[in-house]
Amino acid sequence: MSILVTGGAGYIGGHMVLALLDAGEEVLVLDDLSTGFRWAVPPQAAFVAGDFGDAELVARVLREHRVEAIAHFAAKIVVPDSVADPLGYYWNNTAKARTLIAEAVRAGVPHFIFSSTAAVYGEPAESPVVEDIQLSPINPYGRSKLMVEWMLADTVKAHPLKAVVLRYFNVAGADPAGRLGQSTPNATHLIKIAVQAALGHRQGMDIFGTDYPTPDGTCVRDYIQVSDLIDAHMKALAHLRGGGGSLTCNCGYGRGLSVKEIVAAVKEVSGVDFPVRTAARRAGDPAALVAGADRVRHLLGWTPRFADDLPAIVTQALDWERRLHNRQG
Ligand code: UDP
Repeated sequence: MSILVTGGAGYIGGHMVLALLDAGEEVLVLDDLSTGFRWAVPPQAAFVAGDFGDAELVARVLREHRVEAIAHFAAKIVVPDSVADPLGYYWNNTAKARTLIAEAVRAGVPHFIFSSTAAVYGEPAESPVVEDIQLSPINPYGRSKLMVEWMLADTVKAHPLKAVVLRYFNVAGADPAGRLGQSTPNATHLIKIAVQAALGHRQGMDIFGTDYPTPDGTCVRDYIQVSDLIDAHMKALAHLRGGGGSLTCNCGYGRGLSVKEIVAAVKEVSGVDFPVRTAARRAGDPAALVAGADRVRHLLGWTPRFADDLPAIVTQALDWERRLHNRQG
């Protein structure tokens, strides 16, 4: 029996592949390499280059590899792109996910783990935000993911499939053993940008908005280390294998950090005082987005390693960025 990881050549899916292999699981990666990297997939994992929305291909790999669980990471994730190309996002993230879920049901795959996002909350009035509040995504990306949540919620009522939906907050850092990290060129994520500025790979950085109703005027986010996030997936898999029911959990630490706090940490850890400019707000940024994180701890028994260790997360990101830079020459 094996675990199918869609998007297993990408940043977060790639860390899932490592964790599964470390646990002695059989792993099959399905990735079209549109944003992932073949080198990111270790040789111990089976690899199929292809589209998770290709029904025939999915049916064949589910059968041939006797897939017991699907961890579905593959997605388009850039919010402004989703605004410019909503139908592309609904096709890729929503319509193709329907095909994948349908093939899972048809093949009798019992377990499904879905990468959702805090973007399903939109601009929540409360912080921390708990799973049961009214969902109101404000961009096509968030809606494309929420529709998959709804499809899964309905599907698990009608079929034997069980699903755990994990809503990611701000994922950061890299494999503590240095095997993998965020490798996407032109990534827009704050810690990656700040680390690139510290290493001189870009000319300083901008802070998007300093007039938010937050303690220091910059946006507050809940940064979760990527292996901690993956550990929640491993706990989700154990939960499903143990006969646990479908559920939806936030994945964050329940701790908010401002953009200025992140920038200060990157300067501190790197020892580089890179230039930081104040810029206009970025459209669609909520002032604060922090996870209510009780459910993942209580229902899945998740205990994160890096919740109080921003310097470790920044160090991992710095180390990975250096490696990536050397690799690319
Ligand atoms: N941000 C920033 N400068 C950058 C990149 C991001 O000030 O170069 C801010 C962004 O406006 C947001 C926070 O950092 O308030 C986190 O942004 P990111 O894109 O990492 O994640 P998001 O919360 O948008 O998913």
